[in-house]
This record gives sequence, structure tokens and C-alpha cells, in this order.
Amino acid sequence: MKVGFIGLGIMGKPMAKNLIKAGYELIVNDFVQPAVDELVALGAEAGKNGADIATKVDVIITMLPNSPHVRSVCLGEGGVIETAKPGTVVIDMSSIDPVESKKIGAELEKKGIELLDCPVSGGEPKAIDGTMSVMCGGKKEIWDKYYDLIKAMAGSVVYVGPLGSGNVAKLANQMVVAANIGACAEAFTFAKKAGADPELVYQAIRGGLAGSTVMDAKVPMMLAGNYKPGFRIDLHIKDLNNVLNAAHAINMPVPMSAQMMEIMQELKCHDEGSCDHDAMVKYYERMTGVSIVKE
Ligand code: NAD
Repeated sequence: MKVGFIGLGIMGKPMAKNLIKAGYELIVNDFVQPAVDELVALGAEAGKNGADIATKVDVIITMLPNSPHVRSVCLGEGGVIETAKPGTVVIDMSSIDPVESKKIGAELEKKGIELLDCPVSGGEPKAIDGTMSVMCGGKKEIWDKYYDLIKAMAGSVVYVGPLGSGNVAKLANQMVVAANIGACAEAFTFAKKAGADPELVYQAIRGGLAGSTVMDAKVPMMLAGNYKPGFRIDLHIKDLNNVLNAAHAINMPVPMSAQMMEIMQELKCHDEGSCDHDAMVKYYERMTGVSIVKE
């Protein structure tokens, strides 16, 4: 099967490589020429833009930063909508505002083009080894048709519901992750300031109810003073911004997510937007004068 792939960044490039490994023929596009060249060296064809790619394939995957980029590739000048035949499917795997997924999907549908919103969780290592978790929204029969294609990049693929549901699930994931990292940063700084060894507190509580995948991934990084991304504060701010927009659109206050957003904004003010989101602990360090980094 021939597949279009637009957006060859941290996540998109390894995902595209996994599709080639799985035997799919790819036509790829990105503004970053070296990323395109790398895929071409592996056998992919280079496409000019969404419109060009849509003349050659029935299905196009997008892995772009945020809603405006997806809107532009689908509906803008040189976008998929200009040339795609009715029945073409766009599988958007970017993490975007679900309200925007629905609006973009409605515009595409006017031309008979289907949209699935299938954001991912897992980060670069899981994109590389093909074990990401994918959460899917859109028409069930379209999802069924392209399940094998999506599964070639993922460990788990779960159908959540109609268009927008994939990004709702992704935002719920990002709300839980932000609050969990924030709680770890607060609790371990408290432990240190109260005179306990944060490393021993971590060993003492990680097997109990407070333990979590986030705690095991991020607290050792905080204790090591390791803020190398992983997942950047800037991207998490983008997701929390989408959380606030999507929640307010349905008249739901999200006070905890808003609080986490403001902590991340404090980091951005200190030029730490490129740090991993475990750097939320630096907010507590500045507030208390206490660092939990092991001496
Ligand atoms: P990235 O910035 O590394 O890659 C995005 C790519 O899209 C870039 O190469 C950029 O040049 C390209 N691009 C932007 N606009 C374009 C256009 N109009 N036409 C063609 N190419 C265009 O981002 P990423 O880390 O790969 O993340 C992609 C998405 O996946 C984001 O929504 C992000 O939130 C989500 N995500 C990222 C991670 C992670 O750990 N990095 C984890 C899960 C989900």
C-alpha cells in the first residue's frame, strides 16, 4: 500500500521508518530537507506538499506540531483538500485541540475526505521501537480499515469514539501527567525541606498507592538533576493550552490543569521551555531555596 506521510520531526521520522520496515511504500514531506533525504535514502519518494501527495495516495498520515499546522496541510494553499479524491483518508497523529479536529474534519468531509484523529503517547523511544500507544477518534469503519497501518507503528491502538475523541483522550493523558509531575516535584521538595532524604522517600513510597509510571520515570531524573527532553515544557504548554480551550468550550473549569500551566509558564519565563517537563521541580527549588538533586 502507498501511504503519504507529512511531518518528519522527532516523532514522525521514526514512525515513517517503521512503516517502510513493515513494507509500506511512502511519499513523504517536511520543510526540513535532511529529514526528507533520510527517508528517501530508505526508499521513500519525496512529495512537494499535501496537494501533490494527495494525487498519488488514498491515505495520508500527518505528524505535525499543533492545530494550525494540521489546518494548513489539510485545508491551506497546497493542502490535501485541493486535489484529494473523495474517499481519501487523512490520519492525523499530531496532538491537537479536539475542537479543531472536528472543524478540520467537517471542512474535509465537504469534499468526501475522511479524517481520523489518532494522537500518540510514548515519546521518541517508543516511536523508534514501534511501541507507542495510539488513541483513535473518527468513523469506526475507517479505523477498522487502517488498523494494520496504524498498528505497524504502535504497541497499543485503542478506538475511543467519534472524531475528536482521540485528542480528548490525549489531553486527558496530558492533564494526568502534568498534575502527577507537579505533585512529585512538590512532595519531594517538601520531603527534603522537612529533613528527609528524597531518594529514600522515593524508595519508601514508590511501591505504594502514590507510586506511578510518571513517578518512576521522572523522580529519578529530578534527583539526578537531568532535564534533558524527553518531552519539552514548551510542548506540554501547547497541550495544556489545548486542554484549557477544549474544556472551556464545554463550560468546564479545569483548575488543576490551569495551575500546572502557570507553573510551566514560570519555567518558560526562565528560558527553560526546552527542558524536559520534570524541570517543574525547578519552580519549587526557586520558591523554597531547596534542591532535591543528589550531591
Ligand atoms: P517536531 O517539531 O519534532 O516535528 C514536527 C515536524 O513537522 C517538523 O519536522 C516540521 O518541520 C514539520 N512541519 C511543520 N509544519 C509543516 C508543514 N506545513 N508541512 C510539512 N511539514 C511541517 O514535533 P514532534 O516532537 O515530532 O511532535 C509531533 C506531534 O506529536 C506534536 O503534536 C506533539 O505534541 C506530539 N507528541 C510528541 C511527543 C514527543 O515526545 N516529542 C510525544 C507524544 C506526542
